[in-house]
Amino acid sequence: MGIAGRDMDTTTDVYPYLAFVMLFKLVIFVFEAFLDFRQYAKFKDMQVPADIRGFVKEKVFKDSQAYNKDMKKFSIIKSFVDFVWEMASLYFLLLAFIWEYEAGIAYIGLDPTNEIYKAFFTFFCLYMISTVMSIPWSLYSNFVIKQKHGFNTMTLKLFITDLIKSSILVVILMAIVIPLIVKIIEWGGEHFYLYLFTFVVIFTFIMMWIVPNFIMPLFNKYEDVEEGDLKKKIYALADKLNFPLKKLFVVDHSQRSNHSNAYFFGFGSNKRIVLFDNLLKHLETDEIVAVVGHELGHWSMYHNLLNMIISFSSLFVTFYVFSFVIERDDILIDFGFTKHYNLVALLVFMEIYSPVDYIQNLIRTFITRIFEFQADRFANDLGYKKELMKGLIRLHIKNKANLNPDPLYATYHFSHPELVERLRALGDFHDIITSEELDKWEEEVKAKEEKEKVEKDKATKEEEQSLLKEGEGESEEPTEKLKED
Ligand SMILES: [Zn+2]
Repeated sequence: MGIAGRDMDTTTDVYPYLAFVMLFKLVIFVFEAFLDFRQYAKFKDMQVPADIRGFVKEKVFKDSQAYNKDMKKFSIIKSFVDFVWEMASLYFLLLAFIWEYEAGIAYIGLDPTNEIYKAFFTFFCLYMISTVMSIPWSLYSNFVIKQKHGFNTMTLKLFITDLIKSSILVVILMAIVIPLIVKIIEWGGEHFYLYLFTFVVIFTFIMMWIVPNFIMPLFNKYEDVEEGDLKKKIYALADKLNFPLKKLFVVDHSQRSNHSNAYFFGFGSNKRIVLFDNLLKHLETDEIVAVVGHELGHWSMYHNLLNMIISFSSLFVTFYVFSFVIERDDILIDFGFTKHYNLVALLVFMEIYSPVDYIQNLIRTFITRIFEFQADRFANDLGYKKELMKGLIRLHIKNKANLNPDPLYATYHFSHPELVERLRALGDFHDIITSEELDKWEEEVKAKEEKEKVEKDKATKEEEQSLLKEGEGESEEPTEKLKED
């Protein structure tokens, strides 16, 4: 098997590829930090902007600003730390270090020169490093910042089980994908990029079937939407548009966050729509139907298909360009490698190619925003203009979305246009919701939330009680015992 690495002539002259990658990352970091600080300054502003004054009360605005300000500050610090880590790992050639650290693989009795084992070992180490490093950040953002702003609905237990489940899934996925990629490049010869591309396309379609049907249910509970007005209206809308709606689910997303959303999935004539439980809690029936109308707009105008065509085309170009440099040793040498492996060539190539990726992502963001306007227009043409406007307003308020975006920041980052832009595109929005209507809504939502909280507390108490009973005589849970004392 030609799977072991090939020696390289390390005396060849090399261009400073690594330095170029680092310089590029530095420039992007500085630019994004500049945008972050602009947005941060906007979050400090406590005056409700004139455009939204009609439907966003001062208190609501201030709460949302305070939450977003804390989150932004946190993300600025996090991006700085991440940046330092990324630069350090590039500078100290971390990738080459792990890849060429053969003792780890030899220790468990496997051939340390085998590309598949090496790749698996490297990806596993990188994944573990990034996961472990991300834990304190997620804990802080969920259990300190979001908690403080009444936005965290996650329990520590759920956080840990999520982490374990997703880690297992990632490892399984790596164990399937890595050997296939290594073999395909090896077998493919000169035209390996064609085979690799075909593999990724097929794999994507398989995952599009597996993820919503088998993986997402591991994390959330999907239930049929109750019989009633909402279900009837959504099915009627689907009928009218010839959308082959087979199932309408509600997902218990509120156990993780307070954000609301809706989406559809499925192939051909087997489509499903999923509504987040928060959507049902926060919006009125016709507004939910309007949001579904927006989603069906994406379907009707082939937005998902277009997105997929764009992704696949750019992927094909990436692999094709890679086929020209796969055998180049100088790039690998500059990144600290002493032997040539195809997969390493791919990893290093992705680094050098990152400016192209970056530009493609920017273009994608712009295209997505255009799609959002089109989907809004679609719902508008269905006759849901007012409902969509109200729904959008309520979603932005309840999601504590950015209500005071910096224009440059929004242009660069937002995949969805900002609220005011979307409303403006739909028509006159200033008197769309009366303040009485908002007050009434706030009370209703509050009542619903309180009722739910009481039920949830009762459920956790019962669970704790039963756990305590089971755990009697064992000293495993000192905190629980303390609580009892
Ligand atoms: Zn959309």
